[in-house]
Amino acid sequence: MRHVAIVGSGPAGYYTAEACQKQFGDQVRIDIIDRLPVPYGLIRTGVAPDHQSIKGVSRRYEATALSDNVRFVGNVTVGKDVAVAELLDLYDAVVLATGAPADRALGIPGDDLPGVVGSAAFVGWYNGHPDFADLAPVLDGPGAVIVGAGNVALDVARVLAKTGAEFSGSDIVGHALDSLDRAMNERITILARRGPHQIAMTPKELGELGHLERAAPRVDAADLPPEAEDAALEPGLRKSVAHLRSFAASDVEKPITIEFDFYAMPIAIEGDGKVERVIVERTAIDDEGRANGTGETYVIPAALVVSCIGYRTPPIEGVPYDAKLGRFANDEGRIAPGLYAVGWARRGPTGTIGTNRPDGFMIAEQIADDTAEDYGKNGRAGLDLLLRDRNVDIVTFRDWQKIEAAEISAARDGSPREKFTSIDAMLAARAE
Ligand SMILES: Cc1cc2nc3c(=O)[nH]c(=O)nc-3n(C[C@H](O)[C@H](O)[C@H](O)COP(=O)(O)OP(=O)(O)OC[C@H]3O[C@@H](n4cnc5c(N)ncnc54)[C@H](O)[C@@H]3O)c2cc1C
Repeated sequence: MRHVAIVGSGPAGYYTAEACQKQFGDQVRIDIIDRLPVPYGLIRTGVAPDHQSIKGVSRRYEATALSDNVRFVGNVTVGKDVAVAELLDLYDAVVLATGAPADRALGIPGDDLPGVVGSAAFVGWYNGHPDFADLAPVLDGPGAVIVGAGNVALDVARVLAKTGAEFSGSDIVGHALDSLDRAMNERITILARRGPHQIAMTPKELGELGHLERAAPRVDAADLPPEAEDAALEPGLRKSVAHLRSFAASDVEKPITIEFDFYAMPIAIEGDGKVERVIVERTAIDDEGRANGTGETYVIPAALVVSCIGYRTPPIEGVPYDAKLGRFANDEGRIAPGLYAVGWARRGPTGTIGTNRPDGFMIAEQIADDTAEDYGKNGRAGLDLLLRDRNVDIVTFRDWQKIEAAEISAARDGSPREKFTSIDAMLAARAE
């Protein structure tokens, strides 16, 4: 029998559990530990609330969670309630699947002014992450500036631009829906350091901007490279660039403009005690593809700045950490004997949900190679004793099902659920 602890119940955690089941059959006991009382990581708190079909992948994780040899242990923070060293004593393998939940800072003057938020915080706010329920972003004002050229920037722009009615069928939390419906930024600017050929935006997400009720995207045709050069792009990027070309050619006017500013980077954020304007410098791309400032600047009036420039994995005591890369130091997932990293905690915040699946299978193979069948470890019985001694209030998968049922029954018309946004409310719901 192998005892495996997986820390983090997002895609990487569940794919690793699935892979361990395939690898070891019924000769494995898996505990999936999460700091929140609710499972599924960014599927619940990151993926956009108006992209319900993508969130549907959680049904697959549910099937894994309901198998006999897998257990969900929610409301337990590793590094606080239990140390990694203690888990290593109890389990044959400990897999850190903690994701990359911390925003990277912009690192420019004024990035600490009220009104500057990272995308983990902003996305967490509209998706009901308890850490960010009180964010109260400024949604009215001269404009919003979004920094970044990936899909998260598109999610943020789309959510800011949509009307309340356009969120029908989504599970955006009530507090965000009310604020977004009341507010309107007439101009949402997406700042991209490089050009249209260097974006990391996928065609489906980009195309959605062309079909919004009260917002229209705008691209300056002068920023687009000659069309003949699109032929060399990989097919997905070519489709995305085709959307940008159609935005540049369109003369549709709507109350909100979503402006793409390419070759542009923020160099300072200014204001009297809060964000009032962003100073932007034009860039030029050098032979190595890097964006360098040209010295030419312009000003965008704004009350909200959302940085979508990547994430870091917070360190956990006792775990070797690569501060430069912002993730656990690991060699293809191996951190130390018995200790592994998977998903965003292993490779940084890149790739889609599916990218985490091969990661999980790689780690299961490594566990098979590195561990023998029976070291006589205590596994979950030992964890239960330790957490009981510390009065840690564990949330089981059965508890989560009760929380989920309460969320479903509280849903507004047409919405799949109304999420609880505080840990206390989640814990109270399981008692009902
Ligand atoms: C805004 C946004 C939108 C996205 N949209 C899409 C999309 O539409 N399609 C797509 O394919 N991909 C999307 N992604 C990417 C996808 O969400 C990631 O690939 C995936 O979630 C990474 O999985 P993970 O398991 O490594 O991390 P996570 O999903 O972040 O899971 C980590 C888990 O670890 C837990 N945890 C953290 N620290 C501790 C600790 N100390 N103790 C216990 N538990 C802990 C967390 O609570 C969390 O549940 C999006 C990402 C973001 C940020």
